[in-house]
Amino acid sequence: MHLDLNITPIEEWFPGKGKPRLISGPCSAENEKQLLSTATELAKTGNVHLIRAGIWKPRTRPGTFEGVGEKGLKWLQKVKSQTGLPVTTEVANVKHVELCLKYGIDILWIGARTSVNPFSVQEIADALRGTDIPVMVKNPMNPDLQLWIGALERINDAGITKLCAVHRGFSTFDRSPFKNTPMWEIPIELKTMCSSLPIFCDPSHIAGNRELIPMISQKAMDLDMDGLMIECHFSPQSALSDSKQQVTPSQLTKIIDELIIRESKITNKQFENQLEQLRTTIDEIDEEIIQGISLRMNIAERIGEYKKENKVTILQINRWEDIVNKRLSEGLALGLSENFVKGFLKLVHEESIRRQAEVMNIPSEETAVKFEKG
Ligand code: PEP
Ligand code: MN
Repeated sequence: MHLDLNITPIEEWFPGKGKPRLISGPCSAENEKQLLSTATELAKTGNVHLIRAGIWKPRTRPGTFEGVGEKGLKWLQKVKSQTGLPVTTEVANVKHVELCLKYGIDILWIGARTSVNPFSVQEIADALRGTDIPVMVKNPMNPDLQLWIGALERINDAGITKLCAVHRGFSTFDRSPFKNTPMWEIPIELKTMCSSLPIFCDPSHIAGNRELIPMISQKAMDLDMDGLMIECHFSPQSALSDSKQQVTPSQLTKIIDELIIRESKITNKQFENQLEQLRTTIDEIDEEIIQGISLRMNIAERIGEYKKENKVTILQINRWEDIVNKRLSEGLALGLSENFVKGFLKLVHEESIRRQAEVMNIPSEETAVKFEKG
């Protein structure tokens, strides 16, 4: 599916040209000194293009630090005049938007707890109509690409074309080393649907701890994402929110210096030819895989027909365990990972069951006709 958004190219509105495009600053503005010192140190690094700080903090439980509110916007104005860097903050309702516009905040972002709610996003979009302030839309908390797209569409329909998405990971029940599982396939799918839409990565909220930030940042760069948003605090251990995931300005410099920035366009001819050959081989293998799976599913349907005639259940647990064990040991011997082989077999098995159930639940004459037609 193609997603039609009207997007101003990022080069035309994002401040600064360096790679990676970098947004940094504390999770929350806590007091004037904390914000100004952090921002000043960040400006000195020369790596940061836009200073972030949350003024209104959507916290899970009441009674925790919920942000400093309007006075923080004045501190952001000071940051801008003292460092020369533009500033961004999170908006979650119409009042926030109006205040940010009043105080000349340069770029707004919509947080994950707001982009889940179409009513809130629509109200924000309506409040933005007639302005051309850039807006960044974080993915919703839950892994729902349509909801993320919906939020982007609402903002874009209000006439905001300086628009980008921010991938900050998804909240899931699965145990994961990440606070929010990245599920990279979701931003990749978004990019595939709308190649003109810039997508930033927010490694801080994916990781939930500073140790994983370099690895996630590198992955984002290797996926050709358009920039990074990394939380930074001059004293992370005393931060009032997200203290485990914030880094100091010097830690940030190290992370950025160690990133490998690869070219997104291929310029070397010889390399291009070699790559072309490898890609042709991959295409051939993929074709074989798809044909093989299609063949396998047709056979599964025939088995379904026999099971139907003999009144046996679709799921034959011993047979299934046998398949998993055999294929797993083959896969491991061939250098595939256990997770991958198990995940792949699970998908194939689910589809097999679905196809067999279809066959077993239609009258036998129809099944016969279906097989004749292939
Ligand atoms: C934040 O950026 O501090 C924030 C609250 O992020 P998210 O909406 O991604 O949780
Ligand atoms: Mn945060």
